[in-house]
Amino acid sequence: MKDNYILFWHRRDLRLEDNIGLHHALTSGKKVIPIFIFDNDILDKLPKNDARVNFIHDELSKIHSTLQDHGSSLIVKHGKPLVVLQEIISTFNISAVYTNHDYEPYAIARDTEVKEFLETQNIEFKTFKDQVIFERNEIVKADGKPYTVYTPFSKKWLANLKDTDYQSVDSQIHYSNFAKVSTNLPTLEDIGFTPSKIKVLPYAITENIIDNYEDTRNFPAIEGTSRLSPHLRFGTISVRKCIQHGLRSENNIFLKELIWREFFMQILWHFPTSVTHNFKSKYDGVKWRNNEEDYKAWCEGKTGYPLVDAGMRELNKSGYMHNRVRMITASFLCKHLLIDWKWGEAYFAKKLLDFDLAQNVGNWQWVAGTGCDSSPYFRIFNPTSQIQKFDKDHGYIKKWASDYQEFTYPKPIIDHKFARERCLEVYKAGINA
Ligand code: FAD
Repeated sequence: MKDNYILFWHRRDLRLEDNIGLHHALTSGKKVIPIFIFDNDILDKLPKNDARVNFIHDELSKIHSTLQDHGSSLIVKHGKPLVVLQEIISTFNISAVYTNHDYEPYAIARDTEVKEFLETQNIEFKTFKDQVIFERNEIVKADGKPYTVYTPFSKKWLANLKDTDYQSVDSQIHYSNFAKVSTNLPTLEDIGFTPSKIKVLPYAITENIIDNYEDTRNFPAIEGTSRLSPHLRFGTISVRKCIQHGLRSENNIFLKELIWREFFMQILWHFPTSVTHNFKSKYDGVKWRNNEEDYKAWCEGKTGYPLVDAGMRELNKSGYMHNRVRMITASFLCKHLLIDWKWGEAYFAKKLLDFDLAQNVGNWQWVAGTGCDSSPYFRIFNPTSQIQKFDKDHGYIKKWASDYQEFTYPKPIIDHKFARERCLEVYKAGINA
């Protein structure tokens, strides 16, 4: 029999509950085999103790254990997705492969290849919207063109939400529809990795965080943000749940941040070249200095500016950096040091537990001034006065750059006033080139 099973392919949706594609599979009337594939093309580029791989493995273990309670298993493979899927199809009678949409250029190419192959085998490839409330062309201007400015996008997003079902789906009652397969989960070592000391922290979407968010979110010494980002990145929480929390508060600032996430998702979908090119080509003439020594000092948190250094050291040690400090460190790289935003984007991509192509590129271009709806190029953060504004008691810098008052602490690698004037000149010349 060819039509026995549906294969559900987990990617950036590492959860069983409120997972749209999985819910459709479980309610299709067929038994469901869940699978996750560690993609060689992605893993080969990572250090062997990459914390994100460790996190994924931990989350897969949790899913596997829940499935075992229901007499099933998560099949976890390691290889090229197409090759692994071919192998699975030759082992089980699969009538359809279900999965959730992924909007990154690499994922789109991978899925196109998989779809074409499955078609040759008369196997359906069914994909679903899961990681955003609105995707692709669902929020566009009256003329059908994508929004490139956040505010009108967010207004339309909020208006359209009223007519949209963003409730969570309850799949638990359908868990008996998982196929009775029994497999062992490979260990981290089996896939060539070792445990990492860096861990993803649990998220906090309490009333306290969301109601006070506007007052606390800019102060890196306070635990005033949700820490949702790696969970949204890997789908260990559904976006629908987050939105419901955001809507419960009278203050919609938190919700607006979640809309920024969707804004950058749709920007990447419509403008995939923004990964490697300035969104606004008028900035192509800006002559980056790209000094390797300056870059190294920035990466290592040794610029001599305590807030910049604290941020980079937080990133290096924990895989996280507070949003306010991300803006300050990124601005320092592009504007004080005149280093191409792509260098900074690449470093964050290596280190951030929540690294997400759409968010990282969108935010880096925003800071550099080259992005679609970005901070103006002449807005140059003063890394010292930012301490006065956002870390007055030095709680954050004491935590991450505790040597900042010591004799051995590096001298500033550049004078702020000089850097500011140079930046203005270089940007102006670049725009007029
Ligand atoms: P909260 O303040 O609690 O916000 C809740 C959620 O809203 C976040 O988890 C995130 O999903 C979303 N959000 C908040 N701020 C932004 C924003 N500026 N843009 C888009 N979504 C936002 N975020 C990533 O998820 N991945 C990245 O790779 C990433 N790279 C960044 C690079 C730079 C240079 C900058 C300035 C910001 C970047 N951000 C990125 C956005 C933001 O810094 C993080 O989402 C946020 O700090 C995560 O902490 P939190 O979950 O506690 O956020």
